[in-house]
Amino acid sequence: MATAAISPEVLAKYEPVIGLEVHVQLLTATKAFCGCANRFGSEPNTNICPVCLGLPGALPVLNEKAVEYAVLAALALNCEVRERSIFARKNYFYPDLPKGYQISQYDKPLAEHGWIEIPTANGSMKRIGITRLHMEEDAGKSLHEGFADSATRTYLDLNRCGTPLIEIVSEPDIRTPDEAFEYLTRLKEILLYTGVSDCNMEEGSLRCDANVSVRLKGAERFGTKAEVKNVNSFKFIRAALEYEIERQVEVIESGGRVAQETRLWNANEGRTFSMRSKEQAHDYRYFPEPDLPPLIVSPQILSESRKKLPELPEARRKRMIAEYELSAQDARTLTASRDFADRFEAAAKTARNPRRVANVLLSEVGGRLKALGLEQEQTPVSMAGIVLAADLLDAGMISSKQMKQIFDVCFETGEDFKPVYEREKPEQITDASALEKMIDDVIAANPKQVEQYRAGKKTVAGFFVGQVMRASKGQANPALLNELVAKKLEGGE
Ligand code: ADP
Ligand code: ZN
Ligand code: MG
Repeated sequence: MATAAISPEVLAKYEPVIGLEVHVQLLTATKAFCGCANRFGSEPNTNICPVCLGLPGALPVLNEKAVEYAVLAALALNCEVRERSIFARKNYFYPDLPKGYQISQYDKPLAEHGWIEIPTANGSMKRIGITRLHMEEDAGKSLHEGFADSATRTYLDLNRCGTPLIEIVSEPDIRTPDEAFEYLTRLKEILLYTGVSDCNMEEGSLRCDANVSVRLKGAERFGTKAEVKNVNSFKFIRAALEYEIERQVEVIESGGRVAQETRLWNANEGRTFSMRSKEQAHDYRYFPEPDLPPLIVSPQILSESRKKLPELPEARRKRMIAEYELSAQDARTLTASRDFADRFEAAAKTARNPRRVANVLLSEVGGRLKALGLEQEQTPVSMAGIVLAADLLDAGMISSKQMKQIFDVCFETGEDFKPVYEREKPEQITDASALEKMIDDVIAANPKQVEQYRAGKKTVAGFFVGQVMRASKGQANPALLNELVAKKLEGGE
């Protein structure tokens, strides 16, 4: 697969310009304009009716839930929602479109003028504009393989006809394949947090067409764009864009002109291929859908929707970084999904020290999961177990070494923290005189550190605590040990 990054010579001379069109299936129980189940994976042609098949005389009725989700998505993407938007017919002939037209929105889309913030190569944030977000319906599926006679026939599965979609069109604000990747990652995250789609790319609930052109650096006008379709993962979109940028530059450098065309990505070959030129492109003959009234989103509905918006990923990360003293990377890990972040925060609230819960979760559990190549869902340790570990540590009832040993057992046996802790309740030395003796030994063996401490370098206390902890095989009661070390170093008894 040719996914080589773009060469530095190309980037020194040319600037890529990218705009993305993303289709997202809404997670409603029923379809956009009829009562058929909106479900992936059913037997072919079982979730269909006269409306979604476009039989004569059938009339569409708009699904309120689909509108609710589309409005939520629009608000989450900082769009202005139009009070009165218009459905339109987009006419084209294709076997998987029995009606002969797709109900969409055209010159009066549901929402416009939004944006998503993405991180750029230099670490700063950049806004990518969203031109529009409109509602439409999906088409069915042509099945070109999987049947004994697939060589000579194409089969149709019309279950997907009428599935509610939103299309989100970005401004041509994206400048690198990495930025495109970030935009898609953030967009997906926001839609998942908002709960309007499962964004499952394998099942086609999120699909992306990438528009890309190149221009000489400093040039004012955009170059001619190609539209790349058929890309089914964010990584492939990045690879397809890298390929396409190199290809367009080569065309220009060899004296040619980039053709305005639609190209298909071939993942096996790591290349794009011309599918159709713009000359053969469709004229969709849009006109207002006569069977549907204008869609009215009143100010009241809008303000109610606004109240339903969850805290969105970027805002949540900012708050959690401050609240739990996290690094940006740790904040990303904890907010990877809304459900996970919710569960973490609900658990952390019950702990003596929420920051320590974050710490134990990330370094002990997260570290082990990573080392074992496991997913978060495969963890043997519950949030309650993590809270228990953090509380015990915080109260000085176990040392961090003992906690680590318990987690080791959890990951060996698949048990939660609590049963292992209760079974193997670690021995603790809480006898002050025994600890004092160990401290005396360490102090006697390390006169230089004692001197440093007495000269004002108070952090050296940690060195002594560590040494005694080691001598006690991790069994010294940490709270008591800290207290005694300080006392001894201060010269007290
Ligand atoms: P079309 O008329 O071909 O549908 P649009 O102007 O509607 O083109 O834009 C479709 C998508 O292509 C948008 O995401 C937009 O940002 C992007 N786009 C438009 N012009 C360019 C260009 N010259 N280079 C790259 N992307 C572009
Ligand atoms: Zn139907
Ligand atoms: Mg367009």
